[in-house]
Amino acid sequence: MHCEEVLAERIAREAGTPAFVYSAAVIRDRYRKLDAALAGVPHRIHYSLKANSNRGILTLLRELGSGVDVVSGGELFRALHAGFGAQDIIFGGVGKTAKELSEALQAGIKMINVESEAELLLLDRIAGEQGVQAPVGLRINPEVAVATRHEYIATGAKGHKFGIPYEEAAAVIATAVSLRHVAVVGLDMHVGSQLQSFEPYRHGIERLASLASQARALGAPLKYVDIGGGLPVAYGDGDADPDLEAWQRVVIPAVREIGAELLVEPGRFFAAASGVLLARVLYRKKSGGKDYVICDAGMTELLRPSHYDAYHFIETAGDRAGRARVDVVGPVCESGDFLALDREMEDAQPGDLLVIHTAGAYGYVMSSTYNSRARAAEVMVDGHRFAVVTAREHYEDLVRLEHEDPDWRDA
Ligand SMILES: *Cc1c(COP(=O)(O)O)cnc(C)c1O
Repeated sequence: MHCEEVLAERIAREAGTPAFVYSAAVIRDRYRKLDAALAGVPHRIHYSLKANSNRGILTLLRELGSGVDVVSGGELFRALHAGFGAQDIIFGGVGKTAKELSEALQAGIKMINVESEAELLLLDRIAGEQGVQAPVGLRINPEVAVATRHEYIATGAKGHKFGIPYEEAAAVIATAVSLRHVAVVGLDMHVGSQLQSFEPYRHGIERLASLASQARALGAPLKYVDIGGGLPVAYGDGDADPDLEAWQRVVIPAVREIGAELLVEPGRFFAAASGVLLARVLYRKKSGGKDYVICDAGMTELLRPSHYDAYHFIETAGDRAGRARVDVVGPVCESGDFLALDREMEDAQPGDLLVIHTAGAYGYVMSSTYNSRARAAEVMVDGHRFAVVTAREHYEDLVRLEHEDPDWRDA
């Protein structure tokens, strides 16, 4: 088994396991396809950093011309650190702190997507203190019906915590336009992830369009319409990659009508299919009629199976002739620590290298050090070359921030 032109076994031997391996070619290919699909209107792609934020992937996307969408001060820091210019960055998220808003203003980023009236008022005050005008996008919850694989990845239906409730949107727009230190430069939505139909985009953009005319009538200098991320990825259990032509037919005419620059915030679409997780089989074991494959990666590396009930195709890097019905589990002391349950797959044996597919998005970024497991390495492959882009953590990293001699203070 190869990752581009490099043997998976070679990477596993040199970088160790568990390790995430990303293909530069897949990211390039997907970036170009999406960019081409949007060619009919002025647009900018803002990669959603939270899907996968290592320096290797960020550098690759920056060189392709992508901007970024960040959802925390830490992601803003990462984006600037990876060389993105302030005008390449938009900042979203439902719970930004005063410190984060202040950092975004100081950096001079392109747009801050605001999710409530309270946040808007706070941002106006901070911008006033800094003597600047905040470029604001108002994230509207268009309250459309959203069908996703798991309820945790739907965000734009009525009652979700995200965005400004649709029935309040007109009032919040009017407030925003009246504030001295904010400029309403955009309207934004993000209705969910792994969207199985484009109807939420259609309905959502329609709602943004009617709000856009209201905003303009009030004098808002609207420049951007941001339709969020959410493009799906084929994981191998029936989901398909998006039909970008069909998506384009939904999005382009509707956005052209609004007459603003289109912004999109895909994360999973670029990162998921670019990456695999490599893990080594440690043991086989039978218990209570179940057959276990115990490997050196689990929920600490890839939380998606246990958190979202997600499917990841798993195979061995070598050739195993036999098949077996197994649970693929990790070493973590939790019954919820699994990568696959009741899965018919190759009869993997101790020492075999497992390749867990479509693990490039919401994998490493959701990893934890639970059970004091040091984080995995991240590797980038580009043609015949490969490089470690994030070093494996060492045991010392686990205790680095702890104080041996804490500074006790009196009450
Ligand atoms: C998570 C997120 C995205 C990216 O979602 P994908 O499904 O990975 O494309 C985009 N925008 C916002 C605001 C998000 O929270």
